[in-house]
Amino acid sequence: MSDIEEKCPKCGSPLGSVTVTASGRKLQRCSTGSWNPETKRTEGCPFVKWLPIEPVALDEKCPKCGSPVVMMVTRFGKKMKKCSTGGWDKLKKQATGCDFVEWINGTTEPLEEKCPECGEKLVLFTTNSGKRMKKCSTSGWDREARKATGCVYVKWLKAGELAAEDTGEEFLPPESP
Ligand SMILES: [Zn+2]
Ligand SMILES: [Zn+2]
Ligand SMILES: [Zn+2]
Repeated sequence: MSDIEEKCPKCGSPLGSVTVTASGRKLQRCSTGSWNPETKRTEGCPFVKWLPIEPVALDEKCPKCGSPVVMMVTRFGKKMKKCSTGGWDKLKKQATGCDFVEWINGTTEPLEEKCPECGEKLVLFTTNSGKRMKKCSTSGWDREARKATGCVYVKWLKAGELAAEDTGEEFLPPESP
């Protein structure tokens, strides 16, 4: 008897072991479901339980409705502020409550690669919309002048490039709050 063992709410089978996705999110699939990378579909029971990354309450009010705002990290590792009353209706596949969301700047990860232009380290930058590029760590953005500063080397990655493993992560339903 363990209190960790949980049943799938869809089919009653036990949940499988915790899987860590390419972007570091943790999830448990129903033990009767599995991801088929060839067909890019989940086979068997599609239930996925995302292990919570606790939203952090911010000392900020939603500009739309005045409710508290929370900071969330999505399963893609992107950060956003959202209204604490906002949610996701899994059945209707649509957002519920207040829809205020503010994406925080893209994420940057250091790479072990040198910039072909200047020899400094490259970083992997993920934009708000999930696009990825390699760019030079010396580059920046001058907000006032509205122009790039430092080294201008940029290489956009095609979707799928640098994905550590094909977990089907992109095709899973949005995580519930
Ligand atoms: Zn199931
Ligand atoms: Zn709101
Ligand atoms: Zn450079």
